[in-house]
Amino acid sequence: MEIIYILLLVIAVLSNSILIIILSMRAERSVSILLFILLLYFINAWGVPQIIVNYFELKDGLFIAVDKISSLGYTFIPVIFLIFALSFVNKLYLLRSHLLLVIIFLPAIFFLYLAWNTDLIEIRNYQLTQKHSWGYGVPIGQLFPVIVIWFESLIISAMIMIIKFHRSTPDLAKKRQSIWLIAALLIPLIFGTVTNAILPILKIPALPSAIPLTSIMALIIAYAIIRHELFELSPLTILSSLGGGVITVNRDENIVQINQTAADLLGVNDALTGKAIQSIISLKDENTKGAKRINPVRMVLKTGRKFESGNFMVRSAAKKKFPVDLIVTPLQHKDNITGATLIFYDITKEKELEKNKNEFISIASHELKTPITSIKAYSQILQKQIQEDKAFKYAGFIAKINDQVDKITELINDLLNVGRIEAGKLVLNKSNFFIDHLIEKEVDDFRLTETTHTFAITGRTGHKVFADEERIGQVLKNLLTNAVKYSPQANKVIVGIAEIKYGIRISVQDFGIGIPEADHKKIFGRFYRSNAKTGRKITGFGLGLYISGEIIKRHGGRIWVEDSKPRGSTFYFTIPTGRN
Ligand code: ADP
Repeated sequence: MEIIYILLLVIAVLSNSILIIILSMRAERSVSILLFILLLYFINAWGVPQIIVNYFELKDGLFIAVDKISSLGYTFIPVIFLIFALSFVNKLYLLRSHLLLVIIFLPAIFFLYLAWNTDLIEIRNYQLTQKHSWGYGVPIGQLFPVIVIWFESLIISAMIMIIKFHRSTPDLAKKRQSIWLIAALLIPLIFGTVTNAILPILKIPALPSAIPLTSIMALIIAYAIIRHELFELSPLTILSSLGGGVITVNRDENIVQINQTAADLLGVNDALTGKAIQSIISLKDENTKGAKRINPVRMVLKTGRKFESGNFMVRSAAKKKFPVDLIVTPLQHKDNITGATLIFYDITKEKELEKNKNEFISIASHELKTPITSIKAYSQILQKQIQEDKAFKYAGFIAKINDQVDKITELINDLLNVGRIEAGKLVLNKSNFFIDHLIEKEVDDFRLTETTHTFAITGRTGHKVFADEERIGQVLKNLLTNAVKYSPQANKVIVGIAEIKYGIRISVQDFGIGIPEADHKKIFGRFYRSNAKTGRKITGFGLGLYISGEIIKRHGGRIWVEDSKPRGSTFYFTIPTGRN
């Protein structure tokens, strides 16, 4: 029998040693893994002396010395396990509290002292141990039940912590990992306690199985570490390697995890779990300057929909401010939103580059304007001259040159406008004017130049609006140009004016190629051109609607497109009245 016990111990110690070697060789060694390796050393410190004293017939002094190492092992195992559990649930920072350190370590040191110097825990007597042989009914000290209770209470605390973490973490990977830990822990907790504590206390001889069982626990945890990447595969670690700041919050907007990059970017330390996210980071949408603030985290927790924006400004509690690319994704568990993950990238450099690019475009277009204006002037002089000289065969060329110059001028103006918009320099010169008059004037211009289509106006308001007349005129021009341009087969455009609750709504309807539903929003983006096959042949830069959209937005209005019946599109925009 004795040999079976020794054999079990040898297997346990060997398996622990192999795990130590495998885990030490891993490239990535997190604090949790280092603590786990330490735990393995202590399990061996408990087990190896047991092999020695049971196998070799050691003399009195040597026997006591070796056996003492064993007590060093078991008094510190629960302490290290608790710290390991703290690290798993991301609460290692709790150890910064001196009180907690004393509460954890002092009893261990005290029990070790008792085990080494008194007979209160273990009766270290060579003859007695020999007589009873390898643990069957080895006499125990009076305080042995106390150390058992302390030991178990630490392990149970660790277990409760992991169970609570399992229930509260929004991170599904961690949820699975905590189940592994709990399952592994239950084995030595139940059976080890029975064979090594309860039965000896009841003076019932039993095979002390705690060491082999603890080693089985270690094997399961190590398996989870290696196969299931127990600690590495947290999304946080993976995302950290992408260089982004990652913060996970639970349903109550309290921080569950924060990675080093996030802590560095925000200039805070990472001991923040449990704190409200608002206490360290405030996010401001650069698109809605001054207007209603949206809280992306709250929105995602409420709607369960992912949120992305490349135009957010982060202001940290440490007074750091920088632009970010922001993604907030909901974490879901069985249809419930359990939390959200925030990923943000510092895009200061990109913004700087974009600013330079915009500056370049605006300088270049500015510089292009002067030569183009003079080309236009000369070609007009030339046109006049040709008419005077009656050299009509050249008139066609000049007309072509004029057309092309007009196109370039239009593009340059668009680019200049885009530059202004990007730099936030699109200024509105507002005044009160009759909107009906403006529409009539613009439509009349089109009636003169666009002879392929007829233009009808429906409705009128008779009201004045307070807006930038020239810019609103520009929007109308854009919409009318598109209506004609994208309806080569049709011959009609209808402009509608309607009064709505908070202002007026203008529509421009055509019966042309139409716009696929998926593009309804996208066409208002910079340089976006719809992919509809028929439209591809029609040239353009995809800037007109972007500029129009910005102009309407600055007026506090809305612009959108709907499908027309039976075909074609109707563009709408609103201008709010009653605010100036
Ligand atoms: P551009 O016409 O120079 O390409 P816009 O910004 O004015 O740029 O328009 C963006 C895109 O929207 C166009 O490329 C076209 O695909 C689509 N579009 C705009 N107006 C219409 C319309 N009335 N009918 C069909 N497609 C349109």
